Amino acid sequence: MNKINITILALNEVPLEGEKFTYTRASGELNEALSDLIKDADYTVTLEVFPFDADAGYQLRGEVHTEMPLSCSRCAIDFSYKVNCKINEVAFVGQEFEVKGDQSVKTPHFSQHHKTDDPETLFLDRPELNIGEYIHEVIALNEPMAPLGRPDCNEDCPNLQEAYKKGWIQKPEPEDKKGPFDVLKKMSLNH
Ligand SMILES: [Zn+2]
Repeated sequence: MNKINITILALNEVPLEGEKFTYTRASGELNEALSDLIKDADYTVTLEVFPFDADAGYQLRGEVHTEMPLSCSRCAIDFSYKVNCKINEVAFVGQEFEVKGDQSVKTPHFSQHHKTDDPETLFLDRPELNIGEYIHEVIALNEPMAPLGRPDCNEDCPNLQEAYKKGWIQKPEPEDKKGPFDVLKKMSLNH
């Protein structure tokens, strides 16, 4: 009998020793949830869940390995962007969670600075984790704002030259008299 991994996890039913899940293209459970981001790329997702604070806090750890098809933000060439990221997050079930005055809740910290090993925080309104949506979010957050097909994509990039030639991309006008920097200069003079 094939074991089908669940994708909607009832967090409050996770045993104290934790639970571990592995999802792949072949096991299939997340294929649909991830298809808009990674199309039919292979993926391996591991997720471990540990309850740590009665039933209000859960630690999520794991890894995501996949790739997503992107276009170079400079020369528009299609390429495959590798995603290899770790999951390190604490999930709290929203309404029930209050920071206690005596600071007995020692949560591993939540600031926005992403120090390597600091977990991030996730608030849920129910003790339920939709793993498909969650992993989708993890991958989406790893998508670069301005992806580059090659780390050194620059004016010499053959794709870029070709894209100019074919008129797919407009060659940027050289900055002249009224560049945006004039505005900046004026603004800083006022200070
Ligand atoms: Zn490029």
